Amino acid sequence: IERDALLRKKHLIHVSGNNVPSPLQNFAELSSSYGCESYLLHNLAELGFEEPTPIQRQAIPVLLSGRECFACAPTGSGKTLAFVCPMLIKLKHASKDGIRAVILCPTRELAAQTTRECKRMAKGNKFRIKLMTKELVRNGDFSKLLCDILISTPLRLQLAIRKKKVDLSRVEYLVLDESDKLFELGMLKQIDSVAKACSNTSVIRSLFSATLPDFVEELARTIMHDAVRVIVGRKNT
Ligand code: ADP
Ligand code: MG
Repeated sequence: IERDALLRKKHLIHVSGNNVPSPLQNFAELSSSYGCESYLLHNLAELGFEEPTPIQRQAIPVLLSGRECFACAPTGSGKTLAFVCPMLIKLKHASKDGIRAVILCPTRELAAQTTRECKRMAKGNKFRIKLMTKELVRNGDFSKLLCDILISTPLRLQLAIRKKKVDLSRVEYLVLDESDKLFELGMLKQIDSVAKACSNTSVIRSLFSATLPDFVEELARTIMHDAVRVIVGRKNT
């Protein structure tokens, strides 16, 4: 416990919530404590990622412990990997069971970028990772949207839900990335319908943000229960 507190202090990690899991000392702990397979550690090494960033140190074990997470850390601090890494570890392998994870991003560009990052981390595993495009919503049939991880903007995904082109009832992980921007862009309604469509009662939701305005806190409170709150750096900056 003392060791956890020191590590958090060193990296300016602030946490709140019940039984917050220990922060990571290093990436090797992913395999020694969480059953991470070698392909992922290999990809991290290949990319030259030697140490987890502060948000990764704390958000990864929170999500790996099956807890919901509300995470706030500055732009450029590695938030993508903080939710992609536990997702890949928990999903383990590709499956034909339907969509098991959904990542919502505020813009198409960010969604495309997150898809690339996801694929880069999944290299060596057979996961199907798909970016929701206009064409898929318009012309795609149900089967074309089958994948393990689906990345989309809220609007596109809401459209696909309306047109009954996706089944999100088996989603185990729902991530709202850049939730401050999602909110600023007025996407609350779309987020709500996506969250409802992810009807599996054991879905684990997480919310990532670069800033911490009141409305993001409010959003976190309304969509999550017993979430661990992780804030890196000084609050409100
Ligand atoms: P954020 O979403 O917080 O703005 P990103 O996830 O886009 O940040 O990451 C910013 C950059 O840092 C990316 O180029 C990413 O590849 C890199 N990065 C992520 N994690 C690490 C790490 N552990 N070590 C070094 N670089 C990293
Ligand atoms: Mg980001």
